[in-house]
Amino acid sequence: MIPFSPPHIDDKIVEEVVAALRSGWITTGPRTKAFEKQIAAFCGVRNVLCVNSASSGLELILHWFGVGPGDEVIVPAYTYTATAEVVIHCGATPVMVDVRPDFLIDVGKVRAAMTPRTKVVIPVDIAGYPCDYEELNDLVNDAAVRAQFNPSNELQRMLGRPLVMADAAHSLGAWYKGRRTGALADVTVFSFHAVKNLTTAEGGAISFNLPAPFDTEALYKQLCTYSLHGQSKDALAKTQIGNWRYDVLDAGYKCNMTDVAAAMGIVELERYDREILPRRRAIFEQYAEAFASDPRFQVPEFANADKTTSYHVFALRLVNATESQRDAVMQHIFEQEVAVNVHFIPLPMLSVYKNRGYKIGEYPVTYDNFSREISLPVYYDLTDGQVQQVVAAVKNAADKVLGDRI
Ligand SMILES: *Cc1c(COP(=O)(O)O)cnc(C)c1O
Repeated sequence: MIPFSPPHIDDKIVEEVVAALRSGWITTGPRTKAFEKQIAAFCGVRNVLCVNSASSGLELILHWFGVGPGDEVIVPAYTYTATAEVVIHCGATPVMVDVRPDFLIDVGKVRAAMTPRTKVVIPVDIAGYPCDYEELNDLVNDAAVRAQFNPSNELQRMLGRPLVMADAAHSLGAWYKGRRTGALADVTVFSFHAVKNLTTAEGGAISFNLPAPFDTEALYKQLCTYSLHGQSKDALAKTQIGNWRYDVLDAGYKCNMTDVAAAMGIVELERYDREILPRRRAIFEQYAEAFASDPRFQVPEFANADKTTSYHVFALRLVNATESQRDAVMQHIFEQEVAVNVHFIPLPMLSVYKNRGYKIGEYPVTYDNFSREISLPVYYDLTDGQVQQVVAAVKNAADKVLGDRI
């Protein structure tokens, strides 16, 4: 069986994890701090905070910004549930908008969904392809949007407009107009979950890129504390002689990264640009070449004059197929020992959102993208021979279900 997305675990990672385990310090400590600095340098920002997942990073920022009951947060209907769940956890309302045929949030629809209650917009870089950040940043800075913004605390007053928080769970290393994700929105949250491009088993990071007068260094320190129970000193600082006494400044959360996890991340980030992204890119290009000439398939856009993907998900679509035909094609692919996936089941099709009144019929492009989508395996250890095996399995499956219609 060709698996969908196994992690790339080699001796170097094992050695670094063992070194962390043997070092005498396994929770947040020097390795986490080093990893944060490396991510910041990679993204071209000053401050990055590591946390235990993207979900907790997204939620931490919403709490920090003071999002609560009565507030609205705009999210795409086409994303993973984490993007919207964190909004619900804050007591606020996710306002879903449709995406475009390239899977990314439709900025015109974000504009139409904005109300005086809109506090945050969460664009999602689906498959690793960055959203239109220039348009999004222009939108939140638009005079009419600023005029209707209704701040409910000092931070919101200071920003004077909705916050743009990128869900970059897929897009570490992607480019947009000469800058990397992490430096494109006010705040960007990455995921290092086991299936993501760079993994620490579970983990995430928050990149700060807020405009003046926000002090991102001070914000980093504040959120460090906030991610550790609001305690004034972390466990490592308390081990210093005479430094045992602490205070608790705030009712914080507990979502810090461990040094065991950071040990994996350091190894992976070090070779990310040199080895991981080029291999993923080569796989994308082989798939693109194999499917572009076959009219039964639609190859996803993954680069243009402004953008380059991080090659996270190869979101192939069938042309003119129904959802049940897509499901049948997937079944035939699985029967040929190739694991495929769908990214994602739209939020309005999941019970938790259906029960809250969201209706998939209101998001036609989201549904169309979903109903024809099949995500193909992409990972560092996938060989060229296996790529060709995947291509053959997909084409065979299409022959069975769709025939050779044009
Ligand atoms: C994986 C994922 C998340 C959540 O990441 P975790 O680190 O597992 O919390 C959020 N958004 C999207 C789009 C994802 O794919």
